[in-house]
Formats: sequence, C-alpha cells, structure tokens
Amino acid sequence: MNMTSNIEQEIKQLKDELNQHNYNYYVLDKPTISDLEFDLKLKELEKLETDNPQFFDSNSPTQRVGGEIIKSFKTVVHKNRMYSLDNSYSKEEIIDWETRVKKILGVDEVEYVCELKYDGASINLSYEAGVLLRAVTRGDGYQGDDVTANIKTIKSIPLVLKEKLIDNFEIRGEIILPLDGFNKMNEERIDIGLEPFSNPRNTASGSLKLQDSTEVAKRPLDCLLYHVVANKNPNKTHFEALEMAKKLSFKIPGTNKICSNLDEVFTFIENWDTKRHKLPYETDGVVIKVNSLAQQDELGYTAKSPRWAIAYKFKAEQESSILKEITYQVGRTGAITPVANLEPVQLAGTIVKRASLHNADQIEKLDVRIGDTVFVEKGGEIIPKIVGVDFSKRPKDSQPTKYITHCPDCGTELVRAAGDAKHFCPNEYGCPTQITGRIQHFISRKAMDIDGLGAETIQLLFKEGLIHNYADLYELREAQIIPLERMAEKSAQNIIAGIEKSKEVPFEKVLFALGIRFVGETVAKKLAKHFKSIDNLLQASFEELISVDEIGDIIARSIINFSANPINIELINRLKLYGVQMEVTAESQVGKTAILQGKTFVVSGVFAHFERNDLKKSIEDNGGKVASSISKKTDFVIAGENMGPSKRNKAEDLNIPIISETDYLKIIG
Ligand code: AMP
Ligand code: ZN
Repeated sequence: MNMTSNIEQEIKQLKDELNQHNYNYYVLDKPTISDLEFDLKLKELEKLETDNPQFFDSNSPTQRVGGEIIKSFKTVVHKNRMYSLDNSYSKEEIIDWETRVKKILGVDEVEYVCELKYDGASINLSYEAGVLLRAVTRGDGYQGDDVTANIKTIKSIPLVLKEKLIDNFEIRGEIILPLDGFNKMNEERIDIGLEPFSNPRNTASGSLKLQDSTEVAKRPLDCLLYHVVANKNPNKTHFEALEMAKKLSFKIPGTNKICSNLDEVFTFIENWDTKRHKLPYETDGVVIKVNSLAQQDELGYTAKSPRWAIAYKFKAEQESSILKEITYQVGRTGAITPVANLEPVQLAGTIVKRASLHNADQIEKLDVRIGDTVFVEKGGEIIPKIVGVDFSKRPKDSQPTKYITHCPDCGTELVRAAGDAKHFCPNEYGCPTQITGRIQHFISRKAMDIDGLGAETIQLLFKEGLIHNYADLYELREAQIIPLERMAEKSAQNIIAGIEKSKEVPFEKVLFALGIRFVGETVAKKLAKHFKSIDNLLQASFEELISVDEIGDIIARSIINFSANPINIELINRLKLYGVQMEVTAESQVGKTAILQGKTFVVSGVFAHFERNDLKKSIEDNGGKVASSISKKTDFVIAGENMGPSKRNKAEDLNIPIISETDYLKIIG
C-alpha cells in the first residue's frame, strides 16, 4: 500500500516536472534542461507507467507521441458556435466599422485589442476539471471533427492545467506550422522523392485530419490561442482573459496590443505589414477586437460573425508579370515539374524570374498560357508560385498550353500513374538528368558526404563519359580527372581522397545514398538497424518488410521493386567489391549517431555491460565527448559499481546528473 502510493507520488512528480519542461521549451522557448536529460526523465516515467499500469493516464506527457489510429473522426456539435470574421481591406472600412460599434454602444471612445491573424486551421479546445477534454475543428461553425488524439501530440498545448483560475471553459486558437519546420519537412520529402507540401496553412489543417496520430506527432505543429469562451468568465476584458490564459500555460503571442483609438490601430497595422515577415510563422492580417467583454456582449453577432471584431487583411505579396516560357524539369526520381519563366519582377524584396506550376492539373486549372499576364505570389516556401491569370490581358492569338508528352531530356514517353499528380519519365537508367541526379544524391552531405565533389563536377564527369552510375565513382583515377575543365592536380587528388574516405561511411547512410524511392534518412536508419545488411534487406519479403516499425506498404513495395532489378543488384555488388559498407559493423551496432553531440561525459566505476574503454568509445561513436575529471563542463556522470565517493560528491556539489549504465543504454537506444 505504502509502496504503491510512493510510486504514484513518483509518477506524479515526474509528470509535473516534464509538463513544466515542455512548457519551458515549447511555450516560453527557454528550456532549462538538455534534451538528453528530458529524454531520460521521460523514459523513467514511461517505465514506471508500464510497470504500474494502474496509474495509466491519457494526459501523461508520455502520451504525446501519438499511437491512436482514428478510422473516422467523430462529429461534435459546438457548445458555442464558431463564427467567421468580417473582413476589411482598407482604413475606410475599419472607420465604418467603428462608427457602427460606437452607435450601438452609444459611446465616444472604444478600447481595442489588436492581434495578428495567424494563418492556419482554427481549433476549439474544451477544458473540464482542469484537463483537456476535447479538441474540435471549426467545421461549418456549428459542428466540427473531434481531433483530440492528434491535438494531444502538440506539446505547447497543456493537457493538464496547473492552476485553477476558471471553471470549465473553451479556448480557441489557430493550429499553425512554423516556417522552419515546414521547410524542413519539405526538404525531407524532396529527399525521398515525394511531392513537397504547397503551403504551411494547408499542411497544418491536413495534419489535423491524419488518421495516425504518430504521424501528427512528427510534424512540428504549434498552437496560438486567441479567445477564451466561458459562461462565468472572471475577467472584464478580452486582454485580461488572454493574460489569464497565459498564466494557465497557453501560448499567447506577445504581439497582442491594447489600442485606445483607431490611430493606434492603424499604426499597429502599418508596423506589422512589413515586420510580419520576420515572424517564424505566417500571418495574413490583423484582427481588431473590442476589449470590454460587456461591450462585446452588447454588440453580439450577425448571422455570420461577431459585431465586436473585424479582420483587416494584408495585401498578399502578389505581383503580375508576363509568362515567357514553360520549361520542364526532370528530378532524380524522374518526376517532371513544370516551371514558369517570367519577365523579371520585384516581389517581397527579391527579383523573381521563375515560379512553380506544380503539375499538369495545376496548369489546366489555372488555364495558364504562354504570353499571359500572370499573378505571382510568395508564400512560406522558397519558390514563388503562379496563382492566377489576368484574362483581360490575354493575347488574341493565345493557344492553350499542351503539356509535354515526352521527356525533355531523353525523349521517352512520359507516364502518369493513377492517383499521381506528376508525370514521370520511366527511363530510369537512360535519362541523363535522372542518372546525374542519383549520383548527386549519392555524394550529398546526408548520404556519402564526399568531399571535393559537387553537383557540377558530377555533371562534368558524366558528360565526359567517366561515370554512368555511382559505382563508377570508385573506379575514377586522378589521371582521368586532371585534364578536365577547371580541374587541377590538387582538386583531382581531393576528389579521389574523398571517394576513398566514403568507404568508411556507415551502412545506414549508404542505404540512404542508394536513392531507393521513399527510403529517406530516417527510414534508412530503421531498415539498417533491423536488417543489418543489404543482403538481408534485399532478400526480405513484403511481409517481413512491413513488420518493421514504421515501414508501410509503399516503402516495402519500393524496396521490392528495387531489388527485383538486376541493374541495382550489379551496382550493389560492385560497391561491395570496392569496400563500401554494406552491413552494420560490430561497433556501429551500438550505432554511430549524433545523439550525444555537444555533451561531455565522465565515466566512473566498473560496468556490467561494457568494458570501460568500450563505454568511452560508444560515447564518442554517438557524438559525445569523454573527460577524465568532473568539472562544471561535465553534462553527465555515468556511474558503475564502486564509483569513488569523492567523484560522487563532486558531481553532487556541481549538480551534475549521475546516470547508470542502463540509463545510458536507453539514451542511445
Ligand atoms: P475567416 O476564416 O476569414 O472567416 O477568419 C476567421 C478565422 O481567422 C478564425 O476562424 C480563426 O481561425 C482565424 N484567426 C487567426 N488569428 C485570429 C485571431 N487573432 N483572432 C481571431 N481569429 C483568428
Ligand atoms: Zn527522361
């Protein structure tokens, strides 16, 4: 009994601690412990919860990783309707709005709160008895989808409130995908031959509807809150309500501002119209709200929107220009991307000459033609896009755009699989761009990371007939390279040395470098860990492949296709012959990783699983540093049996965490 309550106590304390750290990291952006220490605590909690299932808690920080699969989202009727906002595009419209407000209220002065209009998907969070009960999308405003399981994976949303400042309430906000995370996700998608997402807003709202919450947990979503809805609101103003929400741990942007008249409102708008581009997420306007809750009540709602608020929309970063030509790019996987070549135009501070047209459907939908005056917009993504055509300026003799039927590079007839947005050149092994694209991928930083070789050199080597595939790299000789354009002895030596060194690159990276479609960095790691060698992997059956954690049908089929092709088998046999790592080596079984990057360890005592030197090597293999004595710079002490008491005291004095060998093994997985 006593024992149980001790464990319960311990679990509670760990949960509180982890909640606080999540808050520090995800809401305040001011972590107070290292990721590693956090992971350790989380693992400790996980273990306690698994060993003591009676204390399972669906709101525990361990539940943030997702896991629930939702077949279909339950429809939930909103307790309080979720209205739209009236939009305005000019000062005049805002002045008109103020006039109406003042007239209804019968006052001369009104206080406002200005907020940015975050561009994402709206969400309604209901809290009861201090815990998150439900998260529902806006839907049609009357009813939405219950997406609670997905929302719980967003770490800036508190699952349990630490203070009781208000009874049951709802809080509304915007689920957003910050630009950094969005761009990173797209880089990864491009890496594995997937179509990049088109913009952060659609990706955020699409993420809420994913059926696998584990997938949602991997997306760097965030939630900014802007409205507290409560029967018994203890606050007098909207601003105070948001301050209260901030105290309850919700993420309330610091950009909110009280304005005592419209002049201040206009200054806010002008300021943010340019400054907003420096924010880590996208915004598309300003929302102006009457601050007093009593006045909000009095103003009430129209059929569609509150009378006490109005949105001002920033003008989109849009320009018009003339479409001179459509060119077609061939990717490493054979995917064709149409690119608009434009009359150069100044847009959001840069000169734009090219814009993406995505695919054939997009061209057809927009009915874009050569010679058209088109509208170009810059969203969060790097390449601007064409969003429309100014039909009034269309030349009389203009002809509908005919999408290409053959590869611009090798002339092979293009194919388009059912359900694929893109056309593909099927000439995988004969199409020059696909060949060089694959070799460029092979040498890239995250793959074989070959020093001295760049994308252009690969093209040159290919053009000169010196390489036809990545295996050929290993047969290159200095004497062949020196005579080439812009090459010197030194650069030739560097290239050969870089290629030689790549033979040490661990198997998981080699596997990624092979460029098997859908096998990205993370998937390659998983596969390497599970199958241990290329032979095991290529002999695996479909069933074996999908039995691996996180390997689905698409990846499995792609691997089977790859191994069914004799060309690939020959390439792999050659790579083996040259000495490229095609299996995990004994020491890399522990996994050479960067998990411990930047961390300094001191090892003390006798260990059960490791010889002392092996433990040190393992730390280094995982990116950490080993020091001989404890100092302020030490991050962790790994203690074995018989750790010296003086060392222990020193570590305790300096507040350095002492972990066991088992803890260490858990960290490096
Ligand atoms: P609209 O979709 O144009 O009717 O605009 C209303 C939507 O703006 C709301 O449903 C919210 O999702 C979103 N929004 C973004 N930021 C705010 C904010 N600060 N206050 C209110 N609504 C906001
Ligand atoms: Zn081709």
